[in-house]
Amino acid sequence: MTKIVPQPGIMDIDLYVGGKAHVEGVSNVIKLSSNENPFGPSDAAQEAVKRVLHDMHRYPSTDHAELRSAIAEIHGLESDRIICGAGSDEIIAFLCQAYAGVGDEVLFTEHGFSMYRISALAAGATPVEVKERERVTDVDALLAGCTERTKLVFIANPNNPTSTMIGLAELERLAEGLPEQALLVLDGAYAEYVEGYDGGAKLVEARDNVFMTRTFSKLYGLGAMRVGWGYGPREIVDVLNRVRGPFNLSSAALAAAEAAVRDVAYVEKCRSENARLRAWLSEALGEHGVSCDTSMANFVLARFRNQAEAEACDTYLQKQGLIVRRVGGYNLPNCLRITVGDEPACRQVAHAVGQFKAGAT
Ligand SMILES: *Cc1c(COP(=O)(O)O)cnc(C)c1O
Repeated sequence: MTKIVPQPGIMDIDLYVGGKAHVEGVSNVIKLSSNENPFGPSDAAQEAVKRVLHDMHRYPSTDHAELRSAIAEIHGLESDRIICGAGSDEIIAFLCQAYAGVGDEVLFTEHGFSMYRISALAAGATPVEVKERERVTDVDALLAGCTERTKLVFIANPNNPTSTMIGLAELERLAEGLPEQALLVLDGAYAEYVEGYDGGAKLVEARDNVFMTRTFSKLYGLGAMRVGWGYGPREIVDVLNRVRGPFNLSSAALAAAEAAVRDVAYVEKCRSENARLRAWLSEALGEHGVSCDTSMANFVLARFRNQAEAEACDTYLQKQGLIVRRVGGYNLPNCLRITVGDEPACRQVAHAVGQFKAGAT
């Protein structure tokens, strides 16, 4: 037997399963499985990447000052309370690494984003899951789930894969009720899709136990560039910067993100197109007997009668070249998560679900 063994918790991690991108034997697929922006990145972001290519031999910025000031300016935040990561996944990992270890608990909800569990286990901490109320974050359950060992409480608002969110009063009640050693992390990966919602930034500023994460992977269409950021109390940002690698973001990623955050017109266009197509898609699915909760994000969670029907529908959609996401791993075996695509994609997926419900196989 080998004596070379990993740290506790590591072997309990199930490998992350990403959204499928291919179907055997189908060449032209429509990918609606990873909540990507169907309109792609803004032209400004693409141009910005081209401009930095000739400097590829230089190391990138270590403090991300320019990107942080662009984010601060556009969102009305303080730039020295921002930290940037290789996707918000990296910020989640920093939080777990810095604040949770063996014997500590990391709390999240039963349909919470899978990286909370993975990062908690990677840090040696114990993931603890609490119930939701009909696919909505339940503040009472979270508060009841806290112990003196709870160090981090993660909620995505809106949440993936449920698409639902809770309001500011509930967020405040949660922050207020946490034990004093616990930090509330508001994952705002989909915050941009909610008109007038700041992702929890004001709550971060009003309290010392709230931290917000955001990403460029969803509305900004930069998933491949891997850029996310966090906003929190200065002391926490200082702690996270100590575990952050000095060159964690490439020059291309920094340039793309800065241009993207400044392209407010493009952001607005993507937000409004998503809202329009999302409403159309939910209604069309509803007409075919498939209900969805009211989505606040760029995907809908389609509910089927049972797991067998959801899986059969997924198989049928794949044959039509339509890739959606099974969410059995999120304790939602009777559901499929469908990203809101462009208009032709929404029409095709709704039509195909209709044919499936009408008996096609
Ligand atoms: C997609 C997603 C993220 C982050 O993605 P990154 O690409 O790592 O920024 C974080 N949280 C939730 C809930 C997500 O759905």
